[in-house]
Amino acid sequence: MIGRFAPSPTGPLHFGSLLAALASYLETKTKGGKWLVRMEDLDKPREMAGAASKILHTLEAFEFEWDGEVVYQSQRSVLYQDALNQLNTKSLIYGCDCSRKEIADSYNQRPAQHGIDGLIYPGTCRHKAKVKLPHASRVVVDSNPIAFTDAIQGNIQQNLAHDIGDFVLKRADGLYAYQLAVVVDDFVQEITHIVRGADLLDSTPRQIYLQQNLNYPTPQYAHIPAASNTAGEKLSKQTLAPAINAAQASTLLIHALSFLGQQPPKDLSANSIDDIWQWAKQHWDIKKVPSHSSIAFEPS
Ligand code: GLU
Repeated sequence: MIGRFAPSPTGPLHFGSLLAALASYLETKTKGGKWLVRMEDLDKPREMAGAASKILHTLEAFEFEWDGEVVYQSQRSVLYQDALNQLNTKSLIYGCDCSRKEIADSYNQRPAQHGIDGLIYPGTCRHKAKVKLPHASRVVVDSNPIAFTDAIQGNIQQNLAHDIGDFVLKRADGLYAYQLAVVVDDFVQEITHIVRGADLLDSTPRQIYLQQNLNYPTPQYAHIPAASNTAGEKLSKQTLAPAINAAQASTLLIHALSFLGQQPPKDLSANSIDDIWQWAKQHWDIKKVPSHSSIAFEPS
């Protein structure tokens, strides 16, 4: 069993990312598995200077112990290009030089079709003989339903043609898309169990589709509720989620365990961080994690 935590260094760790780290860690470690940390630093323009090392220091201060070396996606472009080439040999990739405006305009008089993750690409460049440079690379999707059973959220099904459309695997500026990189890395790192925030539930069928077409096995997925602020917005750098403070590690771990439905005893907060970890490892039960897609986090 191999699990992982895959933060994007766009800012320091916040409570939402602590939840993903904690749930994936407990799920793997309590079953004798390995837990890897992968820095998803592909999107250099969105990266915050120093965030990657800050995240690792915070994980250390919370006494997370990862196995092996931390992997950095920014150093693995060759792997992503190989996977793209492999899909290309199956005629699943095409160049697309549409701008956002052209995509919106390409619906002409028809109302633009919104999918679950933005506008559905209408396939304008699918059959173009030639596209301008620079161009993005899109993968052709089909309308076969993609279904999987999530260990927390239950049965999920999506129809990529209807809900998403042909999606981008490499952007016109040369950056590989998260959907491609995550699938390649989960395969190369032999990840068997993925535990992460439910904000990524909608992305999972795209990832399974890529796994199927690259002949990779599909890992077991478990999506924990995402933490939102009281306005209902997901905690993130964009919503100005505060960085977690390692000086409050014990309190925050207990909040996180409660959030994940583990019901830590009231007096646990008086204990040392080692005792909290011991309790958590002894009592962790993924079946107790609520199957909501998001829960407001109001620290008391
Ligand atoms: N890097 C992604 C994030 O920070 C997580 C990716 C994943 O767990 O698949 O939201």
